[in-house]
Amino acid sequence: MELHVYGGAREVGRNCFMLHEKGKYIMLDCGVKLGEQTEYPEIPDRMGKHIRDIVVTHAHLDHTGYTPYLIKEGLTPHIHGTKPTKDLTSVLLADYARLGKIAKRRGHTFSQGDVEKVLDSFREREFRQPFRSGHGFNVELFNAGHILGSAMVMVEGEKKVLYTGDISVRGTKLLDGCERDLKCDTLIMESTYGNEELPSVKETMKKLTHEIKETLRAGGHILIPSFAVGRGQEILLLLEAYMRSGAIPETKIYVEGMIGTGMKITRQNLGYAKEEIKNRILMSDDDPFKSPYFRTPKRKDKDDVFEEPSIIVSTSGMLTGGPALGYLARMAPDPKNKIIFMGYQAEGTRGRKILEGAKEVEVDGEMVKMKMKIEEIRISGHSGKSELIQFVKGLKGLKKVVLIHGEDEGIKSLQDSLGKSYEVIVPSLGEEIRL
Ligand SMILES: [Zn+2]
Ligand SMILES: [Zn+2]
Repeated sequence: MELHVYGGAREVGRNCFMLHEKGKYIMLDCGVKLGEQTEYPEIPDRMGKHIRDIVVTHAHLDHTGYTPYLIKEGLTPHIHGTKPTKDLTSVLLADYARLGKIAKRRGHTFSQGDVEKVLDSFREREFRQPFRSGHGFNVELFNAGHILGSAMVMVEGEKKVLYTGDISVRGTKLLDGCERDLKCDTLIMESTYGNEELPSVKETMKKLTHEIKETLRAGGHILIPSFAVGRGQEILLLLEAYMRSGAIPETKIYVEGMIGTGMKITRQNLGYAKEEIKNRILMSDDDPFKSPYFRTPKRKDKDDVFEEPSIIVSTSGMLTGGPALGYLARMAPDPKNKIIFMGYQAEGTRGRKILEGAKEVEVDGEMVKMKMKIEEIRISGHSGKSELIQFVKGLKGLKKVVLIHGEDEGIKSLQDSLGKSYEVIVPSLGEEIRL
């Protein structure tokens, strides 16, 4: 069995892999890497005819964003994923098609029509319901705990290969942690936080409530840039819970971009959420998704958002585009305001530059002075180093670990720790590895 690496090697973004043995092929994820310049997976032309099945682990564009391009080229693969993955993908791809500006510069575009075709190609799959791919691989999905409907993929051919996609071992406010103790020969694992530990829920709560109170008291506004799907919902649930319990003062929380749509889809796919959330909604009238704290700006100039101290949760998560940029430009020059990064900031993004202390950043061609306070409080849908190691050690029969979806430091650190007990492979872009 071979693994072909088209993206996601020593980088976070454009995950795309092909498993291959004796005339059989199956693609795992098919994403793009969004940054100042979008990067695409490098799929050799000769592979086109072999792309019959693509399993997408979850809706994030670094796992799904290239599917419309393949469809546009005339390929007709079946795309396998869970129902929430399909629903959330439809939202994210539609948004991405609209944002086509970035892509157009490189001659790459696709239309809403191509997005519709992607959705038509979808085959909805449930966790723990094995199915056979067109070429005859046995495939099974397991909960990954990362975002709603996110899956790990087990592919069984000559070898049993588990591909994690993005995983959260501990789970989140909304989701149970990923499945553990599975049996496989080879593991292909994300390494996003391979060299870091994630803070405990308690530490996060303490820091977040402190930072929010400080700014609200000073009469400032708080901007939380967020992914449309996943962290956006987690952050809103967290803020709602804090406000309800009195841990932070009651304030309007403005929800911008696609985060609200993400909330609706979550509400429609409650079967994939934690028991606790389901019960709260089903057993009482207490629905955190319909909290009165959540608002959308009423005025086009958004002046209403700034009438009194407020919290703004807006896309995009790494400040690569979206309404968060308008807020950033408006809020950055005032030291009373604060930006709180709660998600991963990839290299080369505006978010990363600000986090690394840039004195000014460019927004829509204008330089904006960064006078607002900058904080980073991670709530992650990923896993910290020791959680990843714990996950690996729980797998039965495991011999090889392929580390992907991480930057050099994260991968190196995991490689050092896992290398004692397993054969660890760190692939490069374009490599074909024997498993
Ligand atoms: Zn993800
Ligand atoms: Zn990812």
